[in-house]
Amino acid sequence: MATARTKRKGERRPAPELPIARVYVDVGLPHLDRTFDYQVADSQHDDAVAGCRVRVRFAGQLVDGYLMERAETTDHTGRLAYLERVVSPEPVLSPEIATLARAVADKYAGTMVDVLRLAIPPRHARVESEVVSHTQDVVSCVPAAVSCAQDAVSHGWDGYQHGDALLTALTAGSRARAVWQALPGEDWPARLAEAATAVAGSGKGTVIVVPDYRDVARLHAACAERLGEQQVVALSADLGPAERYRRWLRARRGAARVVVGTRAAMFAPMTDLGLLVVWDDGDDLHAEQRAPYPHVRDVLVQRAHLSGASLLVAGFARTAEAQLLVESRWAHPVTPDRASLRARAPRVTGFGEDFDLARDEAARAARLPAVAFEAARSALKADAAVLVQVPRRGYVPSLACGSCRTPARCRRCAGPLAVSAGQQDQQDTARSPVCRWCGVPESRFRCPACGSVRLRAQVIGARRTAEELGRAFPGVPVRTSGGKEVLAGVDSSAALVIATPGAEPVADGGYGAALLLDGWALLGRQDLRAGEETLRRWMTAAALVRPGEQGGRVVVGADAALTPVQALIRWDPAWHAERELAERRELGFPPAVRMAGLEGEPKPLAAAMDELTLPDSAEVLGPVPVLETRPEPGRPERERVLLRVPNADGRALAASLAALQASRGARKEPEQVRVRLDPLSPI
Ligand SMILES: [Zn+2]
Ligand SMILES: [Zn+2]
Repeated sequence: MATARTKRKGERRPAPELPIARVYVDVGLPHLDRTFDYQVADSQHDDAVAGCRVRVRFAGQLVDGYLMERAETTDHTGRLAYLERVVSPEPVLSPEIATLARAVADKYAGTMVDVLRLAIPPRHARVESEVVSHTQDVVSCVPAAVSCAQDAVSHGWDGYQHGDALLTALTAGSRARAVWQALPGEDWPARLAEAATAVAGSGKGTVIVVPDYRDVARLHAACAERLGEQQVVALSADLGPAERYRRWLRARRGAARVVVGTRAAMFAPMTDLGLLVVWDDGDDLHAEQRAPYPHVRDVLVQRAHLSGASLLVAGFARTAEAQLLVESRWAHPVTPDRASLRARAPRVTGFGEDFDLARDEAARAARLPAVAFEAARSALKADAAVLVQVPRRGYVPSLACGSCRTPARCRRCAGPLAVSAGQQDQQDTARSPVCRWCGVPESRFRCPACGSVRLRAQVIGARRTAEELGRAFPGVPVRTSGGKEVLAGVDSSAALVIATPGAEPVADGGYGAALLLDGWALLGRQDLRAGEETLRRWMTAAALVRPGEQGGRVVVGADAALTPVQALIRWDPAWHAERELAERRELGFPPAVRMAGLEGEPKPLAAAMDELTLPDSAEVLGPVPVLETRPEPGRPERERVLLRVPNADGRALAASLAALQASRGARKEPEQVRVRLDPLSPI
């Protein structure tokens, strides 16, 4: 009879001589970040399996917990309490995820239960009972689906150096670690689906993490086409709690060979894990916003390391972090071969600030350069859609050298120089700019690149509205994508598609042209990753135009002499990433070093700093006032301290921050000091 108690493959029932349960209690306190022992009553014996949810009494309260393992004896002296209740015999926490969660908690100075909260969706009792019979149907049809996967030998990886070797390794079930740079115009969901199919053929499973739900939908379709709907689970944050738990359980119960999902899927359960993939690892959406703030790419690197699975870090562009994986030989580069790249790369033209405006009057009003206007007009004439990328508003501009535009950096710590909020409006740099990291004013700026003493606030670019752009092309339909209304796809007939970076819809058959206007607005942001991030945004948009000789044109609004523009014109993100990483090594920026940020009100922050025992190599920068992007009246002023250590001391730094939080927690310190390891862009 099929019931919830039916023993599933690979699960072991606890032996009766293990009367102790070790439990992580969900109280969220850093000084209690360990297991506590409880007794298992005879009646609970069968249900109290490793990985199940339990209720226990803790410090007089009933709290949730996860049973980590059963044990024979305890070190606890005195009477042990019994488990209050086994919530469900469903082993939601697999041994693999338990190991990973502990490692992630340690890496980011967080707690195990914080990570488990990100990893395991809340329980839905009805769903748990309903899925059982369904699952067994699915499990019974796995062999058929997998054998069909083995027939799928043809793939589209032949345009890449080492592409064939990668697929061969995945098919054979051996370990491969690669940084994959996709060709412009690449149908990347199809390529990833081929990789997942190869892995399924070896009897293993794949977890793929992408930035947003539109990517999930494309990948799900591509994987389902090759492996069958039943073999693929799609997880994303927008699902309701019941549906999310239903799908998640299918993955946990081993009913699918592929999980595709957004951020939280980095912890998706998978039996016989064979391959982990992160697509577009530079996207901000891969940085978790809840404690302990893990990053998808870094978690997957750790997960691949711990589990022995293969890893693919993929995208059109390449981050400095991915470059570090390549340079340290942890991963192999899989890059387009010359011939394929020549055939596929779009023609890119750059224009600086002193461009020729179009003669057309409406185009002049929209401040469209002649070259952009012409590219758009000829694409529209050929009945093709034109993509116009316009940056979002509200970036904080950075300071740069007044003559050569090298970003202005602090002489002591290489942090970014900035003028205070009051000064920003006046464009007046007469008062000294201040380092955003160490807080030291710079009264005698001198550009290290050209010797100039002039400073300027970076140009934020001409802001063009959809209406202005539309008037330049009368009679052409205008569609916009961005903010709350993001289009997934458009057809490729003549239309103007205006999108903010990251919201560009895919055009069936490709765009006839892409205008990446206002490149300065992206490049001039006060962000350590501004160059890398700009190139990534450009490449992701430019990859959507029709490839090849007769393909679409790309016009980019930034000086062709700049490194990111050069990299775009040559379509060489690896070259850019190499330079980027070299520069970060020189300046002491992540990932060449490890950083942490501590943020709080001035008094508790200072007390926390006094208490903190840092590795000898640590450099303390600040405190400086926190720049509020959206200031809230009445909110107390907050400050931030940055800590910087060589990578070799990264673990020691995390350990001292964890110790700090544990002792503050034990004393029940009321004021919060937020700790964040590897902040995405410490400004
Ligand atoms: Zn200069
Ligand atoms: Zn400084």
